[in-house]
Amino acid sequence: MSSPRQHDVLVLGGGNAGLSLAGRLVRDGCRDVAVVEPKDVHHYRPLLSYVASGMATLDDLTRPQDDVVPAGVLRYPARVVGLDPQRSVVRLDDGTELGYGDLAVCPGSEVDWDAVPGSEEAMGTPFAATSYLPELAGRTWEMLSSLTSGRAVFALASWQVPCFPVGLKPLFVAADHWRRTGVLGAIDIELVVQASRLVDDPRAERELRAACTEYGVRVRTSTSVVSIDPTDRTARLRTPHGTDTTHYDALFLAPPHRAPRWVSESGLATTGSGGFVAVDPETLQHVTFPRVWGLGDAAAVDAMPSGGALRRQVPVVAANIQARRKGTPMQHYDGYSLAPITTSRRELLLAEFDRDGRPEPIVAFPDLARPRRSLLLFDRYLQPTIYWRRLLQGKVS
Ligand SMILES: Cc1cc2nc3c(=O)[nH]c(=O)nc-3n(C[C@H](O)[C@H](O)[C@H](O)COP(=O)(O)OP(=O)(O)OC[C@H]3O[C@@H](n4cnc5c(N)ncnc54)[C@H](O)[C@@H]3O)c2cc1C
Repeated sequence: MSSPRQHDVLVLGGGNAGLSLAGRLVRDGCRDVAVVEPKDVHHYRPLLSYVASGMATLDDLTRPQDDVVPAGVLRYPARVVGLDPQRSVVRLDDGTELGYGDLAVCPGSEVDWDAVPGSEEAMGTPFAATSYLPELAGRTWEMLSSLTSGRAVFALASWQVPCFPVGLKPLFVAADHWRRTGVLGAIDIELVVQASRLVDDPRAERELRAACTEYGVRVRTSTSVVSIDPTDRTARLRTPHGTDTTHYDALFLAPPHRAPRWVSESGLATTGSGGFVAVDPETLQHVTFPRVWGLGDAAAVDAMPSGGALRRQVPVVAANIQARRKGTPMQHYDGYSLAPITTSRRELLLAEFDRDGRPEPIVAFPDLARPRRSLLLFDRYLQPTIYWRRLLQGKVS
Protein backbone atom coordinates (compact mmCIF):
# COMPACT_ATOMS: atom_id res chain seq x y z
CA MET A 1 0.00 0.00 0.00
CA SER A 2 1.46 3.42 -0.97
CA SER A 3 1.94 5.87 1.90
CA PRO A 4 -0.29 8.98 1.94
CA ARG A 5 1.02 12.17 0.38
CA GLN A 6 2.21 14.45 3.20
CA HIS A 7 1.58 18.17 3.71
CA ASP A 8 3.11 20.35 6.37
CA VAL A 9 -0.33 21.86 7.12
CA LEU A 10 -3.51 20.37 5.70
CA VAL A 11 -6.74 22.37 5.85
CA LEU A 12 -10.13 20.62 5.54
CA GLY A 13 -12.69 23.00 4.00
CA GLY A 14 -11.93 26.02 1.85
CA GLY A 15 -14.61 28.37 3.14
CA ASN A 16 -13.98 31.60 5.01
CA ALA A 17 -11.99 29.85 7.76
CA GLY A 18 -9.98 27.49 5.58
CA LEU A 19 -8.82 29.94 2.92
CA SER A 20 -8.11 32.72 5.42
CA LEU A 21 -6.00 30.35 7.50
CA ALA A 22 -4.18 28.87 4.49
CA GLY A 23 -3.39 32.36 3.18
CA ARG A 24 -2.19 33.45 6.58
CA LEU A 25 0.11 30.43 6.96
CA VAL A 26 1.69 31.04 3.54
CA ARG A 27 2.20 34.70 4.41
CA ASP A 28 3.87 33.61 7.65
CA GLY A 29 6.37 31.51 5.64
CA CYS A 30 4.82 28.04 5.67
CA ARG A 31 5.83 26.47 2.33
CA ASP A 32 3.53 23.49 2.10
CA VAL A 33 -0.13 24.27 2.75
CA ALA A 34 -2.94 22.31 1.07
CA VAL A 35 -6.70 22.80 1.26
CA VAL A 36 -9.37 20.19 0.53
CA GLU A 37 -12.45 21.90 -0.91
CA PRO A 38 -14.96 20.20 -3.24
CA LYS A 39 -17.00 23.21 -4.40
CA ASP A 40 -15.93 24.98 -7.57
CA VAL A 41 -17.57 28.24 -6.50
CA HIS A 42 -17.05 30.22 -3.32
CA HIS A 43 -19.90 32.16 -1.69
CA TYR A 44 -19.51 35.25 0.45
CA ARG A 45 -22.32 34.08 2.72
CA PRO A 46 -23.11 37.31 4.61
CA LEU A 47 -24.58 38.70 1.36
CA LEU A 48 -27.21 35.93 1.44
CA SER A 49 -29.10 38.06 3.96
CA TYR A 50 -29.18 40.88 1.41
CA VAL A 51 -30.40 38.47 -1.29
CA ALA A 52 -33.18 37.52 1.13
CA SER A 53 -33.89 41.24 1.59
CA GLY A 54 -34.02 42.07 -2.13
CA MET A 55 -30.78 44.09 -1.94
CA ALA A 56 -28.29 41.74 -3.69
CA THR A 57 -28.18 38.87 -6.17
CA LEU A 58 -26.44 35.50 -6.00
CA ASP A 59 -23.99 36.75 -8.64
CA ASP A 60 -22.86 39.45 -6.20
CA LEU A 61 -21.68 36.83 -3.71
CA THR A 62 -20.22 34.14 -5.99
CA ARG A 63 -16.66 33.72 -7.31
CA PRO A 64 -14.91 30.74 -8.95
CA GLN A 65 -13.12 28.86 -6.15
CA ASP A 66 -9.80 28.72 -7.97
CA ASP A 67 -9.81 32.54 -8.32
CA VAL A 68 -9.91 32.99 -4.54
CA VAL A 69 -7.57 30.26 -3.28
CA PRO A 70 -4.55 32.22 -1.98
CA ALA A 71 -1.35 32.07 -4.06
CA GLY A 72 0.99 29.30 -2.87
CA VAL A 73 -1.83 27.11 -1.54
CA LEU A 74 -2.58 23.77 -3.21
CA ARG A 75 -6.26 22.87 -3.54
CA TYR A 76 -7.60 19.32 -3.73
CA PRO A 77 -11.02 19.60 -5.47
CA ALA A 78 -12.46 16.70 -3.48
CA ARG A 79 -14.55 15.92 -0.42
CA VAL A 80 -13.22 14.55 2.85
CA VAL A 81 -15.00 11.30 3.65
CA GLY A 82 -12.96 10.07 6.58
CA LEU A 83 -10.23 10.95 9.00
CA ASP A 84 -8.06 8.82 11.24
CA PRO A 85 -6.40 11.16 13.74
CA GLN A 86 -4.56 8.23 15.38
CA ARG A 87 -2.69 7.58 12.10
CA SER A 88 -2.82 11.26 10.96
CA VAL A 89 -4.50 10.30 7.69
CA VAL A 90 -7.35 12.00 5.81
CA ARG A 91 -9.36 10.10 3.18
CA LEU A 92 -10.94 11.86 0.17
CA ASP A 93 -13.92 10.76 -1.94
CA ASP A 94 -11.64 10.05 -4.94
CA GLY A 95 -9.70 7.52 -2.84
CA THR A 96 -6.69 9.77 -2.20
CA GLU A 97 -5.13 9.58 1.28
CA LEU A 98 -3.32 12.58 2.73
CA GLY A 99 -1.05 12.89 5.74
CA TYR A 100 -0.19 16.02 7.68
CA GLY A 101 2.12 17.72 10.12
CA ASP A 102 -0.75 19.81 11.50
CA LEU A 103 -4.41 19.56 10.51
CA ALA A 104 -6.96 22.38 10.55
CA VAL A 105 -10.54 21.13 10.48
CA CYS A 106 -13.00 23.74 9.20
CA PRO A 107 -15.71 22.22 6.98
CA GLY A 108 -18.40 24.57 8.35
CA SER A 109 -21.82 23.38 9.47
CA GLU A 110 -24.95 22.33 7.59
CA VAL A 111 -28.67 22.91 8.00
CA ASP A 112 -30.19 20.23 10.24
CA TRP A 113 -33.70 19.82 8.82
CA ASP A 114 -34.20 16.69 10.96
CA ALA A 115 -34.07 18.84 14.10
CA VAL A 116 -37.44 20.41 13.15
CA PRO A 117 -39.75 17.81 11.59
CA GLY A 118 -41.73 19.31 8.70
CA SER A 119 -39.28 22.16 8.10
CA GLU A 120 -37.74 20.74 4.92
CA GLU A 121 -41.20 19.97 3.50
CA ALA A 122 -42.31 23.51 4.39
CA MET A 123 -39.40 24.89 2.34
CA GLY A 124 -40.96 23.19 -0.70
CA THR A 125 -44.05 25.43 -0.41
CA PRO A 126 -44.34 29.13 -1.39
CA PHE A 127 -45.04 30.04 2.27
CA ALA A 128 -41.66 29.29 3.87
CA ALA A 129 -38.05 30.18 3.08
CA THR A 130 -34.61 30.82 4.56
CA SER A 131 -31.57 32.94 3.81
CA TYR A 132 -29.33 30.09 5.00
CA LEU A 133 -29.24 28.30 1.65
CA PRO A 134 -28.37 30.07 -1.61
CA GLU A 135 -31.19 28.35 -3.51
CA LEU A 136 -33.80 29.64 -1.02
CA ALA A 137 -32.45 33.13 -0.29
CA GLY A 138 -33.97 34.73 -3.41
CA ARG A 139 -37.28 33.01 -2.71
CA THR A 140 -37.30 34.60 0.75
CA TRP A 141 -37.65 38.08 -0.68
CA GLU A 142 -40.28 36.97 -3.24
CA MET A 143 -42.31 35.55 -0.35
CA LEU A 144 -41.89 38.56 1.96
CA SER A 145 -42.29 41.32 -0.63
CA SER A 146 -45.47 39.79 -2.07
CA LEU A 147 -47.19 39.51 1.33
CA THR A 148 -49.88 42.18 1.77
CA SER A 149 -51.79 40.83 4.76
CA GLY A 150 -51.77 37.98 7.27
CA ARG A 151 -49.10 36.70 9.62
CA ALA A 152 -45.35 36.66 9.04
CA VAL A 153 -43.36 34.50 11.47
CA PHE A 154 -39.57 34.82 11.73
CA ALA A 155 -38.00 32.00 13.76
CA LEU A 156 -34.32 32.09 14.67
CA ALA A 157 -32.65 29.06 16.20
CA SER A 158 -29.48 30.04 18.03
CA TRP A 159 -26.96 27.39 19.18
CA GLN A 160 -24.24 26.95 16.50
CA VAL A 161 -26.38 28.74 13.86
CA PRO A 162 -23.90 30.90 11.88
CA CYS A 163 -24.41 34.50 12.98
CA PHE A 164 -28.08 33.86 13.84
CA PRO A 165 -29.08 37.51 14.60
CA VAL A 166 -28.60 38.34 10.88
CA GLY A 167 -31.95 36.57 10.43
CA LEU A 168 -33.31 39.93 11.59
CA LYS A 169 -32.06 41.57 8.39
CA PRO A 170 -34.89 40.26 6.16
CA LEU A 171 -37.37 40.95 8.99
CA PHE A 172 -36.59 44.65 9.31
CA VAL A 173 -36.13 45.25 5.58
CA ALA A 174 -39.47 43.52 4.92
CA ALA A 175 -41.18 45.53 7.70
CA ASP A 176 -39.74 48.71 6.18
CA HIS A 177 -41.06 47.60 2.76
CA TRP A 178 -44.51 46.84 4.19
CA ARG A 179 -44.60 50.25 5.86
CA ARG A 180 -43.61 52.05 2.67
CA THR A 181 -46.19 50.15 0.63
CA GLY A 182 -48.92 50.87 3.20
CA VAL A 183 -49.65 47.27 4.29
CA LEU A 184 -47.75 47.12 7.60
CA GLY A 185 -50.98 47.51 9.59
CA ALA A 186 -52.45 44.44 7.87
CA ILE A 187 -49.49 42.20 8.72
CA ASP A 188 -49.04 40.57 12.09
CA ILE A 189 -45.26 40.10 12.61
CA GLU A 190 -44.07 37.52 15.12
CA LEU A 191 -40.41 37.01 16.01
CA VAL A 192 -39.51 33.72 17.69
CA VAL A 193 -35.96 33.51 19.06
CA GLN A 194 -34.46 30.47 20.74
CA ALA A 195 -31.93 32.58 22.67
CA SER A 196 -32.93 34.64 25.70
CA ARG A 197 -31.90 37.84 23.88
CA LEU A 198 -31.99 39.01 20.25
CA VAL A 199 -28.26 39.62 20.40
CA ASP A 200 -25.57 39.35 23.07
CA ASP A 201 -24.82 43.08 23.18
CA PRO A 202 -27.10 45.11 25.50
CA ARG A 203 -26.65 48.35 23.54
CA ALA A 204 -27.64 46.71 20.26
CA GLU A 205 -30.44 44.81 22.03
CA ARG A 206 -32.01 48.13 23.11
CA GLU A 207 -31.93 49.46 19.54
CA LEU A 208 -33.38 46.25 18.10
CA ARG A 209 -36.18 46.15 20.68
CA ALA A 210 -37.01 49.77 19.80
CA ALA A 211 -37.15 48.86 16.10
CA CYS A 212 -39.45 45.92 16.93
CA THR A 213 -41.77 48.26 18.83
CA GLU A 214 -41.74 50.74 15.95
CA TYR A 215 -42.82 48.09 13.41
CA GLY A 216 -45.22 46.36 15.81
CA VAL A 217 -43.23 43.11 15.98
CA ARG A 218 -44.30 40.68 18.72
CA VAL A 219 -41.09 39.26 20.22
CA ARG A 220 -40.91 35.84 21.92
CA THR A 221 -37.47 34.94 23.30
CA SER A 222 -36.40 31.57 24.82
CA THR A 223 -38.84 30.04 22.34
CA SER A 224 -38.07 27.57 19.58
CA VAL A 225 -39.88 25.87 16.74
CA VAL A 226 -40.19 22.13 17.43
CA SER A 227 -42.14 21.09 14.33
CA ILE A 228 -43.95 22.50 11.34
CA ASP A 229 -47.13 21.38 9.60
CA PRO A 230 -46.77 22.75 6.06
CA THR A 231 -50.33 21.73 5.10
CA ASP A 232 -52.00 23.67 7.91
CA ARG A 233 -49.24 26.29 7.84
CA THR A 234 -48.65 26.03 11.57
CA ALA A 235 -45.50 25.90 13.67
CA ARG A 236 -45.43 24.19 17.04
CA LEU A 237 -43.39 26.15 19.58
CA ARG A 238 -41.64 25.32 22.83
CA THR A 239 -41.96 28.34 25.10
CA PRO A 240 -40.84 28.94 28.71
CA HIS A 241 -44.49 28.31 29.69
CA GLY A 242 -45.11 25.10 27.71
CA THR A 243 -46.03 24.44 24.10
CA ASP A 244 -47.94 26.70 21.74
CA THR A 245 -48.94 26.78 18.08
CA THR A 246 -48.70 29.66 15.66
CA HIS A 247 -50.20 30.00 12.18
CA TYR A 248 -48.19 31.60 9.36
CA ASP A 249 -48.77 33.04 5.91
CA ALA A 250 -45.03 33.58 5.50
CA LEU A 251 -42.41 31.73 7.57
CA PHE A 252 -38.74 32.68 7.67
CA LEU A 253 -36.37 30.23 9.36
CA ALA A 254 -32.80 30.55 10.58
CA PRO A 255 -32.71 26.76 10.99
CA PRO A 256 -30.71 24.64 13.47
CA HIS A 257 -27.29 23.55 12.18
CA ARG A 258 -25.10 20.50 12.76
CA ALA A 259 -21.50 19.60 11.99
CA PRO A 260 -20.75 17.18 9.12
CA ARG A 261 -21.22 13.58 10.34
CA TRP A 262 -17.65 12.48 9.57
CA VAL A 263 -16.43 14.88 12.27
CA SER A 264 -17.99 12.83 15.06
CA GLU A 265 -17.43 9.53 13.25
CA SER A 266 -13.69 10.25 13.18
CA GLY A 267 -13.55 10.85 16.92
CA LEU A 268 -13.04 14.63 16.71
CA ALA A 269 -16.22 15.39 18.67
CA THR A 270 -16.84 14.67 22.34
CA THR A 271 -20.11 14.23 24.21
CA GLY A 272 -19.92 17.85 25.33
CA SER A 273 -19.28 19.29 21.87
CA GLY A 274 -22.62 18.31 20.28
CA GLY A 275 -20.97 16.71 17.23
CA PHE A 276 -18.74 19.73 16.56
CA VAL A 277 -14.93 19.60 16.64
CA ALA A 278 -13.94 19.50 20.31
CA VAL A 279 -11.23 22.11 20.82
CA ASP A 280 -9.94 24.14 23.71
CA PRO A 281 -12.13 27.26 23.12
CA GLU A 282 -9.16 29.54 23.78
CA THR A 283 -6.20 27.90 22.01
CA LEU A 284 -8.42 26.16 19.39
CA GLN A 285 -6.25 23.04 19.74
CA HIS A 286 -8.09 19.72 19.72
CA VAL A 287 -8.70 18.37 23.21
CA THR A 288 -7.20 14.94 22.40
CA PHE A 289 -5.04 15.27 19.28
CA PRO A 290 -2.49 18.09 19.71
CA ARG A 291 -1.71 18.40 15.98
CA VAL A 292 -5.39 18.92 15.14
CA TRP A 293 -6.99 22.39 15.24
CA GLY A 294 -10.61 23.47 14.85
CA LEU A 295 -12.04 26.82 13.84
CA GLY A 296 -15.06 28.40 12.18
CA ASP A 297 -18.61 27.11 12.16
CA ALA A 298 -17.55 23.45 12.61
CA ALA A 299 -15.73 23.99 15.90
CA ALA A 300 -17.17 24.08 19.42
CA VAL A 301 -15.52 27.31 20.59
CA ASP A 302 -18.20 28.43 23.06
CA ALA A 303 -18.93 31.58 21.05
CA MET A 304 -21.41 32.51 18.32
CA PRO A 305 -19.99 31.41 14.94
CA SER A 306 -19.48 34.25 12.47
CA GLY A 307 -17.09 35.53 9.84
CA GLY A 308 -16.19 38.30 12.27
CA ALA A 309 -15.14 35.69 14.84
CA LEU A 310 -12.73 34.26 12.27
CA ARG A 311 -10.81 37.52 12.16
CA ARG A 312 -9.68 36.61 15.68
CA GLN A 313 -9.55 32.81 15.33
CA VAL A 314 -7.39 32.62 12.20
CA PRO A 315 -4.34 34.46 13.66
CA VAL A 316 -4.64 32.40 16.86
CA VAL A 317 -4.54 29.06 15.01
CA ALA A 318 -1.73 30.22 12.71
CA ALA A 319 0.34 31.37 15.70
CA ASN A 320 -0.45 28.32 17.83
CA ILE A 321 0.63 25.85 15.14
CA GLN A 322 4.06 27.46 15.34
CA ALA A 323 3.93 27.75 19.15
CA ARG A 324 3.23 24.03 19.50
CA ARG A 325 6.17 23.21 17.25
CA LYS A 326 8.54 25.54 19.09
CA GLY A 327 7.19 24.85 22.57
CA THR A 328 6.41 28.54 23.16
CA PRO A 329 3.26 29.95 24.87
CA MET A 330 0.04 29.83 22.88
CA GLN A 331 -2.28 32.70 21.95
CA HIS A 332 -5.88 32.81 23.16
CA TYR A 333 -9.18 33.47 21.36
CA ASP A 334 -11.46 35.46 23.68
CA GLY A 335 -14.77 34.46 22.06
CA TYR A 336 -15.18 37.70 20.08
CA SER A 337 -18.05 37.58 17.60
CA LEU A 338 -20.28 40.05 15.83
CA ALA A 339 -23.59 40.50 14.03
CA PRO A 340 -24.38 43.32 11.58
CA ILE A 341 -28.16 43.91 11.56
CA THR A 342 -30.20 46.19 9.32
CA THR A 343 -32.97 48.04 11.15
CA SER A 344 -34.47 49.27 7.87
CA ARG A 345 -33.53 49.35 4.19
CA ARG A 346 -31.34 52.35 4.99
CA GLU A 347 -29.61 51.66 8.31
CA LEU A 348 -27.57 48.99 10.06
CA LEU A 349 -26.04 48.48 13.48
CA LEU A 350 -23.10 46.33 14.47
CA ALA A 351 -23.31 44.21 17.62
CA GLU A 352 -19.94 42.99 18.95
CA PHE A 353 -19.49 40.85 22.04
CA ASP A 354 -17.35 38.20 23.70
CA ARG A 355 -18.38 34.73 24.82
CA ASP A 356 -19.69 36.07 28.12
CA GLY A 357 -22.02 38.53 26.40
CA ARG A 358 -19.85 41.53 27.22
CA PRO A 359 -19.80 44.25 24.53
CA GLU A 360 -16.45 44.28 22.75
CA PRO A 361 -16.49 47.17 20.25
CA ILE A 362 -13.52 47.32 17.86
CA VAL A 363 -13.70 51.11 18.01
CA ALA A 364 -14.79 53.17 21.01
CA PHE A 365 -16.14 56.00 18.83
CA PRO A 366 -18.49 56.24 17.01
CA ASP A 367 -20.92 53.88 18.73
CA LEU A 368 -21.41 51.20 16.05
CA ALA A 369 -24.24 49.61 18.03
CA ARG A 370 -26.50 52.47 16.86
CA PRO A 371 -28.14 52.21 13.43
CA ARG A 372 -26.26 54.21 10.77
CA ARG A 373 -26.51 54.68 7.04
CA SER A 374 -22.72 54.55 6.66
CA LEU A 375 -22.60 51.14 8.35
CA LEU A 376 -25.14 49.69 5.96
CA LEU A 377 -23.14 50.93 2.96
CA PHE A 378 -19.98 49.46 4.50
CA ASP A 379 -21.58 46.08 5.21
CA ARG A 380 -23.35 45.75 1.85
CA TYR A 381 -20.73 47.21 -0.52
CA LEU A 382 -17.28 47.57 1.07
CA GLN A 383 -17.07 44.49 3.27
CA PRO A 384 -17.46 42.03 0.34
CA THR A 385 -14.47 43.64 -1.39
CA ILE A 386 -12.45 43.42 1.82
CA TYR A 387 -13.45 39.76 2.07
CA TRP A 388 -12.31 38.82 -1.44
CA ARG A 389 -9.14 40.89 -1.47
CA ARG A 390 -7.91 40.71 2.11
CA LEU A 391 -9.67 38.32 4.51
CA LEU A 392 -9.67 35.28 2.21
CA GLN A 393 -6.03 35.92 1.38
CA GLY A 394 -5.10 35.69 5.06
CA LYS A 395 -4.54 39.42 5.48
CA VAL A 396 -6.25 39.45 8.85
CA SER A 397 -4.76 41.35 11.73
C1 LIG B 1 -27.11 33.60 5.65
C2 LIG B 1 -25.83 33.87 6.40
C3 LIG B 1 -25.51 35.16 6.74
C4 LIG B 1 -24.34 35.42 7.44
N1 LIG B 1 -24.04 36.72 7.76
C5 LIG B 1 -22.89 36.99 8.40
C6 LIG B 1 -22.52 38.34 8.65
O1 LIG B 1 -23.22 39.27 8.26
N2 LIG B 1 -21.36 38.57 9.32
C7 LIG B 1 -20.56 37.54 9.73
O2 LIG B 1 -19.51 37.80 10.34
N3 LIG B 1 -20.88 36.25 9.50
C8 LIG B 1 -22.02 35.96 8.83
N4 LIG B 1 -22.34 34.66 8.56
C9 LIG B 1 -21.50 33.58 9.09
C10 LIG B 1 -20.29 33.29 8.22
O3 LIG B 1 -20.63 33.21 6.86
C11 LIG B 1 -19.69 31.98 8.68
O4 LIG B 1 -19.43 32.07 10.06
C12 LIG B 1 -18.42 31.64 7.94
O5 LIG B 1 -18.71 31.45 6.58
C13 LIG B 1 -17.80 30.38 8.54
O6 LIG B 1 -16.72 29.97 7.76
P1 LIG B 1 -16.31 28.43 7.73
O7 LIG B 1 -15.14 28.36 6.82
O8 LIG B 1 -16.22 27.90 9.09
O9 LIG B 1 -17.53 27.69 7.06
P2 LIG B 1 -18.00 27.82 5.55
O10 LIG B 1 -17.85 29.21 5.08
O11 LIG B 1 -19.36 27.18 5.52
O12 LIG B 1 -16.98 26.92 4.74
C14 LIG B 1 -16.88 25.53 4.93
C15 LIG B 1 -16.28 24.94 3.68
O13 LIG B 1 -16.00 23.55 3.90
C16 LIG B 1 -16.36 22.83 2.76
N5 LIG B 1 -16.67 21.45 3.13
C17 LIG B 1 -17.79 20.96 3.69
N6 LIG B 1 -17.71 19.62 3.81
C18 LIG B 1 -16.50 19.27 3.33
C19 LIG B 1 -15.85 18.03 3.18
N7 LIG B 1 -16.43 16.87 3.52
N8 LIG B 1 -14.61 18.02 2.62
C20 LIG B 1 -13.99 19.19 2.26
N9 LIG B 1 -14.60 20.39 2.37
C21 LIG B 1 -15.83 20.43 2.90
C22 LIG B 1 -17.58 23.56 2.21
O14 LIG B 1 -17.75 23.28 0.82
C23 LIG B 1 -17.24 25.00 2.49
O15 LIG B 1 -16.61 25.64 1.41
C24 LIG B 1 -23.48 34.36 7.82
C25 LIG B 1 -23.79 33.05 7.45
C26 LIG B 1 -24.96 32.80 6.74
C27 LIG B 1 -25.26 31.39 6.32
